[in-house]
Amino acid sequence: MRNPRTLALALLLLAAALFGCGRSGSPPVKGPQPEDLPVYRVDTAFRLPDSPTWERARRRGHLVVGAKEDQPYMGEKDPASGRYSGFDIEIAKMMSASLGFDPKTIEFKTIASANRETALQNGQIDYYVGTYTINDNRKKQVGFAGPYYMAGQSLLVRKDEKGIDGPGDLAGKKVCSAAGSTPYQRLQKDFPEAVLVAYDTYSVCVDNLLTYQVDAVSTDDSILLGYAAKVPDELKVVGRPFSKEPYGIGVPRGDNALRFALDDALAAQEKNGNWKKAYEATLGLSGQSAPTPPAIDRYPAS
Ligand code: GLU
Repeated sequence: MRNPRTLALALLLLAAALFGCGRSGSPPVKGPQPEDLPVYRVDTAFRLPDSPTWERARRRGHLVVGAKEDQPYMGEKDPASGRYSGFDIEIAKMMSASLGFDPKTIEFKTIASANRETALQNGQIDYYVGTYTINDNRKKQVGFAGPYYMAGQSLLVRKDEKGIDGPGDLAGKKVCSAAGSTPYQRLQKDFPEAVLVAYDTYSVCVDNLLTYQVDAVSTDDSILLGYAAKVPDELKVVGRPFSKEPYGIGVPRGDNALRFALDDALAAQEKNGNWKKAYEATLGLSGQSAPTPPAIDRYPAS
């Protein structure tokens, strides 16, 4: 951003968007409340000797989990406490409990969309929970447990926008998305007349939208609804979702034992009601009631 005044305004708006200090008179934005979140029972007898990732975590004493830190209601880091919250974070915690590690001990690491495969391949993290779409291309590089949620690509625009109601209106418009993401790739392929802008994170895209540097932000509805809910006077999600984005838990490719254990854990946490409770206390706050979770795809060992 060239103009420092524009930058200052952008940062102010972004801070207001992310930290809920809205305009005077607007009610404080309700975020995930600790008292509403489920408490996950730690399966202390759990063992997974066939998983090199699990064994390494056992020796270390805790799990290292990759996540997002700037996606309201999904994966968000409180800058003051350093604590992470959101639906993805709850999924990470319930998985940790099922694998025998106290969720309080998880070490979260923020990893951007474009860096997830590398982080899993080089052992920086044990697993990844952060709006991570399962697809065949990525399956060549990493493994996926799940899916645990079905999102769809959508569009976020300024409240006063009149010309964009769906992806068919994007010709000549500046559209921002995250590098290395499936929405970015889809825009490139299916909507070549849009003028694409890529950043590492969606919060920088939103910042650019609020300051009129771009006309729309495109990614999963789950992410965009969170931004819109934080500043409803400034932003709106338009149109219908135009893709299917099944969210998986990324694991190192070849650690089938870990992948199957996570599939089992997800099935159990959906059955015992924790999945729904976690949804309602996090992503549900952006306005949608709990859907039925998608069927788990326990694909063969690879
Ligand atoms: N779910 C999409 C993806 O995995 C978009 C969200 C993201 O970038 O994390 O690429």
